[in-house]
Amino acid sequence: MMQAVVQLAYVVATALFVFALHWMNDPKTARRGVHAGIAAMVLAVLATWGLPEIVHHGWIIGAIALGFVVGVPLSRVPLTAVPQRTALSHAFGGLAAGLVGTAKYYLWLGEGPENLTSFRMLAIVAEIILGYLTFTGSLMAAGKLQEIKLIPQRPVTYPGQNIINIGLLGVAGAMGVALVVSPTASWAAILFPVIIGLALLFGVLLIIPIGGADMPTVIAILNSYAGLSAVAMGFVLDNKLLITAGALDGSSGLILAIIMCKAMNRSFTNVLFGAFGQVQQQKLIGEQKTYKAEAPEGAAQVLEQANLVVVVPGYGMAVAQAQHKVRELYDQLKKRGITVKFAIHPVAGRMPGHMNVLLAEADIPYTDLVAMEEINPDMPQCDVALVVGANDVVNPAARYDKASPIYGMPIIDADKARTIFAIKRSKNPGFAGIDNELYFADHTWMLFGDAKNVIGDLVKQLSGASGH
Ligand code: NAP
Repeated sequence: MMQAVVQLAYVVATALFVFALHWMNDPKTARRGVHAGIAAMVLAVLATWGLPEIVHHGWIIGAIALGFVVGVPLSRVPLTAVPQRTALSHAFGGLAAGLVGTAKYYLWLGEGPENLTSFRMLAIVAEIILGYLTFTGSLMAAGKLQEIKLIPQRPVTYPGQNIINIGLLGVAGAMGVALVVSPTASWAAILFPVIIGLALLFGVLLIIPIGGADMPTVIAILNSYAGLSAVAMGFVLDNKLLITAGALDGSSGLILAIIMCKAMNRSFTNVLFGAFGQVQQQKLIGEQKTYKAEAPEGAAQVLEQANLVVVVPGYGMAVAQAQHKVRELYDQLKKRGITVKFAIHPVAGRMPGHMNVLLAEADIPYTDLVAMEEINPDMPQCDVALVVGANDVVNPAARYDKASPIYGMPIIDADKARTIFAIKRSKNPGFAGIDNELYFADHTWMLFGDAKNVIGDLVKQLSGASGH
């Protein structure tokens, strides 16, 4: 009877996980999606706890308490640190899968070799390889994103690197096959920890050649590895919910990685082996051309005269936490009957949906957030493009400069607007490490400074003006 209740709870939890993903597709239903995901996870834990074979309840309570101790502080990181926070979660997931696989192997070995069937062994080998490589790979990714000093941000490459990496994984795989074929051979117990060691090493080597700029995409790929290791764990533990939830995790991670690659016009292999962001060989156009700087007073006057203002937010808006000031500016412009739209590039910021989340936080109506493909045809009619801490996503070099690392990446056509105001703190390049000719264009004026301060100054100018 209990078994039937648990299986029913698993079906409901699976359905909730599917709906959670579906609802997260749209900002209007995203909150409901998060709640559905939480409900599904709580149901999954409670149902599994109810299984008759679970007798040591103290361990479960201890594990849940430990999870809270780690999880609650992790949930409080700022939005800009969410990619590394997510990487840490994958590291924990991978480690859990690896440890469960290891424990099950030694338990079954101790209980009698007949327990180690080829099928179980296959599932264990897949689980430990994927689990442990996800563990170290995700830790490295989190370290790179957090800019931890010990871990180099730039890609580290050496001759024959890909051959060494693939060779290492091949050796681990071959050893795994040997274990599947003869799980009880005398050498099997020696081979098992060697496979673990190779998987741990592979996770580190996999991330070393990848630059910081590609980390968010790599994290999505690691997400799918963690999901696949959960699927294997489901087969090891004969738990159907782990199989379905792991498959959802694995496929959604892969789909997200593909979406991000498409939005940056990069291929999977280019992300994994491209060593993007390694050298800054491009010529610095800043050396021969000069910027024109404008003061907030002048910019506010131009903004007041506009019919259509398109705000192009980027990573700098997130760093400055300028979204609330942007909202005030939006209100000021709307008050004057000016149409204000936000141009949302799919990879603006450091994670998909980054700009949507920030602007939603400041209560900017979703209807004024316009996707890149939809806003671009309107850009020639735009009086002012206000670039707020965006750089790569408005770099025209992506259209024609074949030597540019962002060549082919679709961009927001900010350069087609009549006037461009670009807010950033310095002349430093963006994430791809390249200069942006948009800033030197005849119709571009730079508003140098922290985005929150500059927008605050613009608001002051406009609110002061409206007071007269
Ligand atoms: P970006 O190219 O990284 O440029 C951000 C700009 O913001 C910088 O040039 C910086 O200039 C400025 N900035 C930083 N802090 C600021 C502050 N407090 N106030 C004002 N300006 C500030 O950003 P992006 O245009 O949003 O492009 C995103 C990049 O990330 C793309 O290359 C994309 O491929 C990559 N990426 C994104 C994702 C994703 O999922 N969103 C995933 C992987 C990679 P200063 O230092 O001069 O201020």
